[in-house]
Amino acid sequence: MKKLLPTSTAGSLPKPSWIAEPEKLWSEWKLTGDDLFQAKRDALLISLQEQIQAGIDIVSDGEQTRQHFVTTFIEHLEGVDFTKREIVRIRNRYDASVPSVVGAVSRRKPVFVEDAKFLRAHTDRPIKWALPGPMTMIDTLYDGHYKSREKLAWEFATILNQEAKELEAAGVNIIQFDEPAFNVFFDEVNDWGVAALERAIEGLKCETAVHICYGYGIKANTDWKKTLGSEWRQYEESFPKLQKSKIDIVSLECQNSHVPMDLIELIRGKKVMVGAIDVATNEIETPEQVANTLRKALQFVDADKLYPCTNCGMTPLSREVARGKLQALSAGTEIVRQEILSAK
Ligand SMILES: [Zn+2]
Repeated sequence: MKKLLPTSTAGSLPKPSWIAEPEKLWSEWKLTGDDLFQAKRDALLISLQEQIQAGIDIVSDGEQTRQHFVTTFIEHLEGVDFTKREIVRIRNRYDASVPSVVGAVSRRKPVFVEDAKFLRAHTDRPIKWALPGPMTMIDTLYDGHYKSREKLAWEFATILNQEAKELEAAGVNIIQFDEPAFNVFFDEVNDWGVAALERAIEGLKCETAVHICYGYGIKANTDWKKTLGSEWRQYEESFPKLQKSKIDIVSLECQNSHVPMDLIELIRGKKVMVGAIDVATNEIETPEQVANTLRKALQFVDADKLYPCTNCGMTPLSREVARGKLQALSAGTEIVRQEILSAK
């Protein structure tokens, strides 16, 4: 990335109200068949345009073609029965009715590759594509087949690698794996979580990122955050292993969070997507607040490795709030960009 402090988002952006109920996570599609297909593409173009208007440098599809950041990918795979549901505890935090793994998992055809080609055809800017990480995928399922979290994660990593290679060929510049589960299952992260992630990126020449956050601003997450105390040190568990990994970029949550900034020191050498926008509040950050977060991060990341970003996805926010937050991200970044350039 040639531009200093290139901005991006963690992934999802609000959907237009004509395609799905707004300000709601995982809301149902309002259309079906060809109408839905066309509507998803229109929504993707609007989302792209809103990012460009707000001055976002590395753009995405705003996850307009998926209902859920994990499930939509899994829906396209063999071996998972969506009618056979079991209640499991997600990230040790909340119970959910989830589909069952009933046989060997495989990808019968590409999942997001056509969407990525469509995005690529409509912008010259670098594009980032988000996929779920292997550990977060297994945490969203009941496994009645492999009966081993590690084995299932490894199978998913192989499937993700197939998808990632095709996304790369479609012109995606950065492939990001969403692994909020890395903030929860520390022993597994160290035993096989990072290894599974490296399996997912094997042979890729494009840049790769892992997004580790404290989740959307839903109640189960905000309640969990209240139990974490005044200093959130969860990143301390995964960062040493990630620092040694082949992942290029680590995307993390910094705005209004209790993550001590100096933990970033543990991934010295990696590029860091610094979350400078809180997605759990409707309050729009001022450019100065964004700039302050970035200045703090600059103590621990070299300027050429800092990528200003949002804490997490913005799908539960209103479009107006999300737009304001994207503009604040750009404006705050520009303040710091000028400070760095004038200091040279
Ligand atoms: Zn997130």
